[in-house]
Amino acid sequence: MKQLGALVNGKPIETAGTVDVTDPSSGEVFARTADCGPAEIDQAVMAAREAAASWRHVPVAERARVLREISRLIGRHTADLARLEAQQTGKPLRQARRDTEITGRYFDFYASAIETFYGSTIPLDDSTFVYTTWEPHGVTAHIIPWNYPLQILGRSVAPSLAMGNCCVLKPAEEAPLTALRLGELALEAGLPAGALNVVTGFGETAGAALTAHPGIDHISFTGSVEVGRLISKAAADRTIPVTMELGGKSPNIVFADAEIDRALPVIVNSILQNAGQTCSAGSRLIVQDSIHDLLVGRIAETFAAVDIGPALEDPALGPLISEVQRERVLSYIDQGRAHASIRYGGGALNGGRYGHGFFVQPTLIDGVDPASTLGQEEVFGPVLAVTAFRDADEAVRLANGTDYGLVSGVWTSDVKTAHRMVRDIVAGQVFVNTYGASGGVELPFGGFKRSGHGREKGAEGLRGFGQIKTAVIAL
Ligand code: ADP
Repeated sequence: MKQLGALVNGKPIETAGTVDVTDPSSGEVFARTADCGPAEIDQAVMAAREAAASWRHVPVAERARVLREISRLIGRHTADLARLEAQQTGKPLRQARRDTEITGRYFDFYASAIETFYGSTIPLDDSTFVYTTWEPHGVTAHIIPWNYPLQILGRSVAPSLAMGNCCVLKPAEEAPLTALRLGELALEAGLPAGALNVVTGFGETAGAALTAHPGIDHISFTGSVEVGRLISKAAADRTIPVTMELGGKSPNIVFADAEIDRALPVIVNSILQNAGQTCSAGSRLIVQDSIHDLLVGRIAETFAAVDIGPALEDPALGPLISEVQRERVLSYIDQGRAHASIRYGGGALNGGRYGHGFFVQPTLIDGVDPASTLGQEEVFGPVLAVTAFRDADEAVRLANGTDYGLVSGVWTSDVKTAHRMVRDIVAGQVFVNTYGASGGVELPFGGFKRSGHGREKGAEGLRGFGQIKTAVIAL
């Protein structure tokens, strides 16, 4: 059994207690990591502070070179990283491979972004010269969830390092292994010791100690609304900035004039990818009543043909992350069963190919009351909730009718309908006749309403990790 220390100041550190890491495809513990507490967190933050004092002064071209080298090493180790990611999360191997490649792209993208990122001059009047410069925050804390451990690491650590910050990263207790491996690769790439520390452990102990530490200057968090609130309060106590990405209840809205053959595979993938454990999952289908029966029937047929199995066998659909998560998802399905109609799936899968893994069938629930718990709350499982609409006004009301506002998909052949929906939908990303845009690292991503605040990814993502200084010089 693998036993891994946390990575602090470039070295592994052990703790008395350990945290088990379970393979969701088999239900078996296959690794153990350090159970960091306040003492280890303090060591990591102090190491990051020391590294940050010099990293910010390293010339941009050199910082970019190190980031590109990290990307190159991720590329060289794609097969191993993808295997580890698939094993610890249960995601199908090809998805894990794609996640690894996207993570490499984040390091390349932010290497280029920082090389072309400048302040500005402001023409106030003839007697003053005004310019702005960008400066790093100092030490940034990164609290990462278990659903996309590598990708979310890439999208927040790469821009933070590019801007000149140093990082303390706490991966989720369920899936910490690829972050530790990436920390080692970053050292091999030439990143100074202490510039990226990886502290493993539980949220309530390691995570809470990190977010409360006075040596942290910025927090980026992706996870649940409940924990987001706790972290916001910890940040408020010390008035430090936070970036929060807190999930969604994102709809695909399908008008009668949509190209169904084009929409169908994308809609199905948007809810089954990563077994629906995706912040931006297309978990609601809002479909115009005249094509409702046709589309729901075809989705049910597609769900019935999905290959489900252990992550390393590279199925289309893997298990959920844990038994706890499976129970949660099944209880949402039961709520649907009580008031709506299960058109496909609805159960757990055990035995045979599924063994003791945490598998749930792809589940299609029709006639979901938009005001119900199932219509409002994030399920985080392969469960698609369907509601019909009559006209565009009703579609907008339904789309905006939850507390979330992360992503939306609109399917129509009418250009006016498309633009009207983009204007009226309250969400950080609106896709028309596509969904998710293949994880493009260039696309600013983040929520309206309870889905969070701040934007990650793209050039916007870099700004969140820096602060502007304005210089005013009298001539
Ligand atoms: P999920 O419901 O998807 O597991 P969470 O919001 O519980 O998401 O967890 C996301 C990340 O936040 C994980 O790394 C977890 O360890 C961490 N976390 C959980 N509770 C706290 C807390 N009180 N303070 C800081 N981090 C936490």
